[in-house]
Amino acid sequence: MSKVQSWGRYPYALQDAHPIAWRDTAAAVWRSVGSAERTTLAFGNGRSYGDSCLASSGHVVHMLPLDRMILADWQNGVLRAEPGMTLEQILDVAIPRGWMLPVTPGTKYATLGGAIANDVHGKNHHVRGTFGRHVRRFSLLRSDGTQFECTPESHPEFFAATIGGLGMTGLITWAEIQLIPIKSSMLDVTSIRFANLDEFFVLSERLDDLHEYSVAWVDCQSRDAALGRGIFMVGDHASDGGLKVGRRKTRTVPFTSPIPVFNRLTLRAFNELYYRRQRADEVRSTVSYDSYFYPLDSLLEWNRIYGRSGFQQYQCVIPAPVARDATRAILDAIARSGTGSILAVLKRCGDIKSPGLLSFPLEGTSLALDFPQREESNRKLFDRLDAIVRESGGRLYPAKDAHMSGEDFRAAYPQWEQVEALRDPALLSRFWERTTRV
Ligand SMILES: Cc1cc2nc3c(=O)[nH]c(=O)nc-3n(C[C@H](O)[C@H](O)[C@H](O)COP(=O)(O)OP(=O)(O)OC[C@H]3O[C@@H](n4cnc5c(N)ncnc54)[C@H](O)[C@@H]3O)c2cc1C
Repeated sequence: MSKVQSWGRYPYALQDAHPIAWRDTAAAVWRSVGSAERTTLAFGNGRSYGDSCLASSGHVVHMLPLDRMILADWQNGVLRAEPGMTLEQILDVAIPRGWMLPVTPGTKYATLGGAIANDVHGKNHHVRGTFGRHVRRFSLLRSDGTQFECTPESHPEFFAATIGGLGMTGLITWAEIQLIPIKSSMLDVTSIRFANLDEFFVLSERLDDLHEYSVAWVDCQSRDAALGRGIFMVGDHASDGGLKVGRRKTRTVPFTSPIPVFNRLTLRAFNELYYRRQRADEVRSTVSYDSYFYPLDSLLEWNRIYGRSGFQQYQCVIPAPVARDATRAILDAIARSGTGSILAVLKRCGDIKSPGLLSFPLEGTSLALDFPQREESNRKLFDRLDAIVRESGGRLYPAKDAHMSGEDFRAAYPQWEQVEALRDPALLSRFWERTTRV
């Protein structure tokens, strides 16, 4: 048994991880943890930042060892695999055969099961929606020992409640997804510097529909006329360059720094440098999928730079009609607070509906950035940001959350009650306990 924790290391809560190595032992492992602890939770690879991947009991069943491919139809790009297979493992077999994940988050270390349970989204949300849209079927194991296949037609209520269902409905023991065809493992990318938030919206309006991928980095410390300045990046799969599995050199942050590496001064300096990192206002390049989708993964255990107290990510989405004003208000509050991160990501989400009941994205603009954990200042800032999100009719992303109030969760995700009705009584996360019971 090993110890695991969430990516943000806040709340700091090491969990006992009970590994499930074989699909046919899953029920027995779950039963044995359940009989001692009453409730548990599936744990993928702990790439969720807050407490949605932490069990209320402190004991999780670890799905990562279940990482085998079950069948693949390379004619049609259909893959069936165990839930602990990571996105990296999937890409390793799919890319050389000309197939790509239809949707990928910014880390390849998430597992298939975790990607479904959080219904993750990527830089192509405006074109393909969330991961859950590309899930054809999966098998769900319940604590009473029953196991059944879920599709939009068979057990549709469990299909909808499990996609984005935060692991509450059962253990996914395998899943089948539809991949998308690619001709090359390279991407043609254009990076355009923009001077403020208004320019972001102009670029997004003009370019999103023309490209598969679109995302922007914003300088969270810029203010006044430069508020929301950044670099807008659009990309498309290239048509040549070969189908090569990318393996960039990785480095590991060797130890947890005693204090966060960034303070007000270094943060401003890093943001300024990043904004100026490209010489021309517009730069075109062709890069590997690995560096395009997963820039952070080349620095292993980068969460250590935030020090022993950990960090929180704040990710919200604001509905389109009020996105400009509310995002401006949020960025302004962050810049004034003097805290934040060098990696703040702004992205327009499209209107493609997810099959999942609790999927996070809605048509509008999503902003995500990290904050070193400082109890008092984060609380004050998050109160202010939450009020803006609430007033705008937006919501926060449970996969990144460690602070949202129960009231806000239940108002923003009214379908939580449908998931609660189908929740397996032997599963309970700290997030679900925190947001549905207070
Ligand atoms: C650098 C970085 C970038 C990221 N970028 C994005 C992004 O662009 N978009 C995005 O949407 N997210 C993003 N994320 C968040 C991440 O993709 C999600 O939190 C993802 O769900 C993590 O997967 P995991 O396998 O680590 O699952 P965990 O974090 O371990 O668990 C997540 C949830 O899945 C459930 N679960 C796991 N396995 C199973 C199973 N077999 N059966 C039932 N439930 C299960 C757990 O109970 C839990 O509720 C990013 C995270 C990092 C660290």
